[in-house]
Amino acid sequence: MNKDIYDFQLKCFLRYANIPSQSNASSKTLPSSEGQMNLAKVLANELKELGLQNVVLNDNSIVTALLKGNKSDAHSIGFVAHLDTVNVGLSDSVNPQIIKYEGKDVLLNEKENIMFKVNEHPEINDYLNDDIIFTDGTSVLGADNKAAIATIMSMLKHIIDNNIEHGDIHIAFVPDEEIGLLGAKELDLNIFSPDFAYTVDCCGIGEIVYETFNAGSATINIEGVTSHPMSAKGVLVNPILIAIDISNNFDRKETPEYTEGKEGYIWIQGIKGNQRTAELNLNIRDHDKNLYTLKKEKIKSVIEKAIKDNPMAKIDYSINDVYGNISDSIKDDKTAIDVLYTAMKNLNINPKTISMRGGTDGSALSVKGLITPNYFTGALNFHSMYEFLPISSFNRSLDMTLEVIKIVLNKS
Ligand SMILES: [Zn+2]
Repeated sequence: MNKDIYDFQLKCFLRYANIPSQSNASSKTLPSSEGQMNLAKVLANELKELGLQNVVLNDNSIVTALLKGNKSDAHSIGFVAHLDTVNVGLSDSVNPQIIKYEGKDVLLNEKENIMFKVNEHPEINDYLNDDIIFTDGTSVLGADNKAAIATIMSMLKHIIDNNIEHGDIHIAFVPDEEIGLLGAKELDLNIFSPDFAYTVDCCGIGEIVYETFNAGSATINIEGVTSHPMSAKGVLVNPILIAIDISNNFDRKETPEYTEGKEGYIWIQGIKGNQRTAELNLNIRDHDKNLYTLKKEKIKSVIEKAIKDNPMAKIDYSINDVYGNISDSIKDDKTAIDVLYTAMKNLNINPKTISMRGGTDGSALSVKGLITPNYFTGALNFHSMYEFLPISSFNRSLDMTLEVIKIVLNKS
């Protein structure tokens, strides 16, 4: 491959990284932050300049575009990446720097004396003598997911400039993945309508994800009865104690802190209350659809019992599905997955299939009927100021993207 395209990929990434686009979980709007719209505008313009068709930026900061195929009978495929970077309380402005890793601790920030310590992040030893993009220790890098955006833009440029054969290629850049896959849920599959799609997100070279959690949430609102304690007997109903009673019904070993791999959990992740009201928030996670359903039923029966036991309280609740396991949506046709393994074989990349203890935008899209597995951006230590992107892996993510297009073309 011509080295110029890798330079282009790197320049794209550095440019996008410099546009602050943290999502904001407390916002009620989509996008949740202005920065995402700023980035979306830049991308919509660049897609137009590249010559894509149907470039649309909507009010929700969802960018969609189509590169019409130059071979008519080919499968159409899609690529999805998210615009937001995670807000974990670090700075919204990113100052990426490229440092060659030579086996020693890396000084990220001289002024603040922030070190990247090898003994705390031994995974970096896989990248000895690589040029690596680091942060300055005050922010995440945002390779999650701007590495993917840069890779997708570079793929488009490469196939347009070199007149490479391809089927229809649909592009979607969506906001607010980090706060509940909100952009992907909103994505209109009449507009973004490939046969199947890929997210390019997460993790080191070789990683493939098509097993994610089934995810749901439950909110329980309890209204008690207040009273002065001097005359409370038989009158006062304490909503806080009802919330605690409900919580105590769940298995203390089926929690995030006691589970790993494919073990699911119920996470009591919010409880607040006062004399009159209490609210309890649960997250429900399981790879296995049946076990997930059982967890939801368990929650329901626990609440129903609380309602019965506390006739003077008013208890409302809702249990909602948030996203699904991608693999449950894959029926007989495994083309989207097979393509990834074939691409890695052709490129001599060792595939690492991960059952993700979380979800991707693909988890939201697959539930809606669009199979969307994920492959690597090449970056590591997401959601941390120690996030880093080895440039060699980043380039391989671009190779992978081009290879996927090639294989899909020959499959049809
Ligand atoms: Zn991501």
